[in-house]
Amino acid sequence: MKFCSQCGHSVSQHIPQGDSRLRYVCDHCQVIHYQNPNIVAGCVATWGTQVLLCRRAIEPRKGYWTLPAGFMENGETVEQAAQRETREEACAEVVNLSIYTLIDVPHINQVHIFYRAQMLNPHYAAGEESLDVRLFDEADIPWSELAFRTVSRTLECFFADRPNQVYPVRSEAVAPLAGLAKPQQ
Ligand code: ZN
Repeated sequence: MKFCSQCGHSVSQHIPQGDSRLRYVCDHCQVIHYQNPNIVAGCVATWGTQVLLCRRAIEPRKGYWTLPAGFMENGETVEQAAQRETREEACAEVVNLSIYTLIDVPHINQVHIFYRAQMLNPHYAAGEESLDVRLFDEADIPWSELAFRTVSRTLECFFADRPNQVYPVRSEAVAPLAGLAKPQQ
């Protein structure tokens, strides 16, 4: 950050009184510009036994497959964000959303939250941010071509839980390099 979004003057980094972190503080109006993690919301959308995946048309990870997901917007709930992203990326309507995985990605300041959801009907298509959208059987999931570890982790959990039809909520964290850290639930 270089300039204050309130007044347009320059900002510099200080630790404000009573705080413990460096923050961008306006040199003119003194506003403190806090920066916090972004929430990414998405769905494991199913039709029968099949799972809906989107092939990304945009960077990062263009050409790789993902669960429909994206950044939450102001003024919506996480569940609404997951539904909206599924509509935008896969042109699919989902119902009966149940929260499923909450995966912290602290090294990029994100939290990824996936819901299990049922497609309302078998209609889907590639939205603007997708090259292709398809329903996959478990045996056909393109594991080596998945875009993000939060996606592969969510799908691993889903297919591990599905035989029992019990889907405990998973709270995990993804580490920068050495695979997955699994804190206590
Ligand atoms: Zn300012």
